[in-house]
Amino acid sequence: MQRATKIVATLGPVSSDHKSLTALVEAGVNVVRLNFSHGTADDHRKRVELLRDICKATGRTVGIMADLQGPKIRIGKFANGPIHLKAGQGFVLDTACKLGDEQRVGLDYPELIDDVTVGDVLLLDDGRVVMDIERISNGEIFCRTRHDAELSNNKGINKQGGGLSAPALTPKDMEDIKTAAFLNVDYVAVSFPKSGADMHQARELLTAAGSDALVIAKIERVEAIANLEDILLATDGVMVARGDLAVEVGDAAVPALQKRIIRTSRELNKFVITATQMMESMIHSPVPTRAEVSDVANAVLDGTDAVMLSAETASGEYPVQTVEAMVRICVEAEKSAEVALDKDFLNRVFTRIDQSIAMATLFTAFHLKVKAIASLTESGSTALWMSRLHCGVPIYALTPKIRTRYKVSIFRDVTPLLMRTVESNRDELLRHAEEALIKEGAVEPGDLIVFTVGEPIGQSGGTNTLKIVRVGSNN
Ligand code: PGA
Ligand code: MN
Repeated sequence: MQRATKIVATLGPVSSDHKSLTALVEAGVNVVRLNFSHGTADDHRKRVELLRDICKATGRTVGIMADLQGPKIRIGKFANGPIHLKAGQGFVLDTACKLGDEQRVGLDYPELIDDVTVGDVLLLDDGRVVMDIERISNGEIFCRTRHDAELSNNKGINKQGGGLSAPALTPKDMEDIKTAAFLNVDYVAVSFPKSGADMHQARELLTAAGSDALVIAKIERVEAIANLEDILLATDGVMVARGDLAVEVGDAAVPALQKRIIRTSRELNKFVITATQMMESMIHSPVPTRAEVSDVANAVLDGTDAVMLSAETASGEYPVQTVEAMVRICVEAEKSAEVALDKDFLNRVFTRIDQSIAMATLFTAFHLKVKAIASLTESGSTALWMSRLHCGVPIYALTPKIRTRYKVSIFRDVTPLLMRTVESNRDELLRHAEEALIKEGAVEPGDLIVFTVGEPIGQSGGTNTLKIVRVGSNN
């Protein structure tokens, strides 16, 4: 059975050589994530080159996402490795401290001191360490730790409830955008955006650097929840970035927000990735916990386009097993997803001709019980619109554009296929498409296919035709 939900895997030390990365790709990874919080431009370039070689050798289509670090505030380093904090002990965040010890540590963002007041709660290491602020003076934040905990170099730090003033794009991000453009990545994820304006700024910088990558807004700030629609209208996709989001809004609020973000994204024709700690225990264990299995399955049932792995594939002990387990869970969860057109189908508002064809195709495919929807697409937007509503029929995006083939690889229900020849005659073109679908194993003689195509052939945004074809009959 074809898998509809896509898997994003973060690359790191255990997934950056030819053998390991090939194994991940063959296990079913659809998109790799380059985490710009770690590594140099040269590390990322090597991974991109390796992945492209592997795609060529295996015939797989794996998209590439650059994930910008953003204003993630971090503590400095310790002189003698990790420290052990005791419940109730005092601890100082000291903007002037070079190397930390059991009593104090430095900060890579001295301005933090202007954003916090006595009584605020600081969460370090994605919430594993909790500190209450008791006093602030002369570049020092005096805290008290709530629990026994270990703290090591460069862990992230954030304020409970959000409200930090740091801008979404740092000078490092602006440099990294140029690197991402140079590497010709397919997606760029922006960390900690607060508004649509942050996304517009990222897209402008990308365009100026010569990239047409799709932009992804990581929803991980209190302000991003308040401005969700504004952000969605300015972005191509979003990530439910549960690590930092839980710090800002409280962990218990995240599951309901995940559902709301996924629903709203689909309504506004955006794609959505669910991320962070999905298979966390598999960093050290060859099998997932029951809770992790449920978490991945529930994200699929919520309608996410993709599920993401972080440390599991970047530095874990069982990267391939983790992807294999995720594949198994997605496929099973998809079987139990209701095969009915979403009820809001008739309420969708659209005025564009190509969108009308996309909606009519879904309706037709659902009622005629066709085997495949095949969209002959230049930009991939027809495939995106159709994949925002679930009709239980797989969607194939057939495109002569290599770039489009990679961009659609993250959309749920969409399988990219390269069509090598661009014929100017529609019937010739559809015959080629039919052959490509048979070769892919998508259809057999006697099956019905609904095609969407634009005439004249080869123009982006020109989809204006729907054709129903029975495979093997000369129509
Ligand atoms: P990060 O983003 O891994 O870059 O912090 C994901 C998250 O916050 O969940
Ligand atoms: Mn984050």
